[in-house]
Amino acid sequence: MSLISSNPALGALTREWQLLMVYAFTFAGKPHPFLASIGCATCFIVSRYWLRRAYLQLRGRGPIKSIQQLYEYVRKTLYGWFLELPFVAQKVSTEVSGSLEKVAEKLLPSCEVQRYTKLPQTGWELERVESEIDKLAAMEHVRWEDGRVSGAVYHGGRDLTELQTKTYGVFAVANPIHPDVFPAVRKMEAEIVSMVLSLFNAPDGSAGVCTSGGTESILSACFAARERARMERGIRKPEMIIPVTAHPAFRKAGHYFNIKVHEVECPAPTYRADTRAVARLINSNTALIVGSAPNFPHGVVDNITELSRIALRNRVGLHVDCCLGSFLLPFLSQAGFETEPFDFRLPGVVSISCDTHKYGFAPKGSSVVLYRSSKLRSYQYYIEPDWCGGLYVSPGMMGSRPGALIAGCWASMMSQGQSGYLEACRQIVGSAKKIETALRSKPFATHVQVIGKPLVSVVAFTSKSLNIWAVADEMSGRGWHLNAMQNPPAIHIAVTMPVAKVDDQLLQDLAEVVQEEVAKLEKRRLEGSKEEGTPGDSVALYGVAGSLPSKGVVVKLANGYLDTLYRT
Ligand SMILES: *Cc1c(COP(=O)(O)O)cnc(C)c1O
Repeated sequence: MSLISSNPALGALTREWQLLMVYAFTFAGKPHPFLASIGCATCFIVSRYWLRRAYLQLRGRGPIKSIQQLYEYVRKTLYGWFLELPFVAQKVSTEVSGSLEKVAEKLLPSCEVQRYTKLPQTGWELERVESEIDKLAAMEHVRWEDGRVSGAVYHGGRDLTELQTKTYGVFAVANPIHPDVFPAVRKMEAEIVSMVLSLFNAPDGSAGVCTSGGTESILSACFAARERARMERGIRKPEMIIPVTAHPAFRKAGHYFNIKVHEVECPAPTYRADTRAVARLINSNTALIVGSAPNFPHGVVDNITELSRIALRNRVGLHVDCCLGSFLLPFLSQAGFETEPFDFRLPGVVSISCDTHKYGFAPKGSSVVLYRSSKLRSYQYYIEPDWCGGLYVSPGMMGSRPGALIAGCWASMMSQGQSGYLEACRQIVGSAKKIETALRSKPFATHVQVIGKPLVSVVAFTSKSLNIWAVADEMSGRGWHLNAMQNPPAIHIAVTMPVAKVDDQLLQDLAEVVQEEVAKLEKRRLEGSKEEGTPGDSVALYGVAGSLPSKGVVVKLANGYLDTLYRT
């Protein structure tokens, strides 16, 4: 039963069966004309529903892709059932807990560290708190300070961090939900929105909101698009079309807000969203289409110009995810790099997400969602006129918000200014170009291939001959934290200010690791063995998972991983 209820398609099927059975009974004898006509009408509606679905499926995906999808679906479902068989489930669960123990060993501090699971009886002296904080800061970690981490810390400079800390101190208690109590925070939020709007060439009448991060910006934009579709076009079953490379926040929005998500392929060699597939998938329920500028996996900018054209032609909105591009993309041309249209100058673009906490160098917990008009923005507002607590008004999902982070963002933006961001763009994108050029020439070129044409700060590469995840694991062994990608297997490097300072060292280590992997491969070939040695973390996770038809085991592992994070 759990299999059926947990599976929407099967659930729907059983409902259809129930209906059919009702009809069978109705029509079996000599039906009353009234009953018969109701039966016929329902039959007509139901079959029209299924015919329309079949038509949209065939138009959107074509017959071959539809059969492939069906095959994949059946394979996954059967494999899912297989995993639920008692003896298999038992084995899986033992394996999973074994792996999780290893994860815990890595993540949780060793036994010398004192654990606190209850409030201290009496509050600590200030010195004690401070000394404990120092100890916490000194916990062993991957060295982002030395530029060893791809992404994560985008600036990290001492002066900027000091400015942010000081600003936080000044506005520590501020909450923009009380604009009369904290007028400065209201002013700063409005100004941040206005400054970012102008960076993205927003027209008169445009608007925006500060959020807690890229995910909230994206959730808000998707929710606003859904509400707009409902209010202006009466759409009850909203749909959204996204590239497979789009950030998971869009699928999360689909999950939270009941928006059906269609994914389109981003085929080689450009790895950009297949715009013709987008056009085919649009129907009367489409609330939003999405493009990334650039996407996270490959740092590739989708064809926003064409997506905008498609959006206009079909009267749907286009959201541009510029969370990662943030303050780099708007400065590309001024810094002398190649660029492409991505902002409100394209008339189909209705909303943009931009992370001030990425290349805007604001403290973490800061992003902006921009809308072409304030009317569009109002669809994300939440207003409760009848509450006993009084009229409740909030611009988005959050209630109280940290005013100190808005102040930190404002201070960071003002201290950088156009000159600061331009210079950062030169350094960061310059470094990414250097890495890309190196990967496209000797000694790398024979072994690895750069994915698509990266325009901004992320460079991704795959390999036809080597196990690229083994390369990632070997780099981890040398203290580098690069990101492992899947479909296709790849590594990506997101260049940040700290990374840009050590890019030569990075390339040198990478060259050595690649040479080592080539040598290992040669050795195995000579010995005629297939043995790959003990797999590293990425190889173990993606290698094994990639070979299975369903990700059920991975999801179990990931669940356990999240639980592990909350172990004290
Ligand atoms: C980082 C990122 C986001 C949002 O992520 P948050 O972690 O919620 O800030 C969205 N899209 C892309 C392409 C990103 O790189």
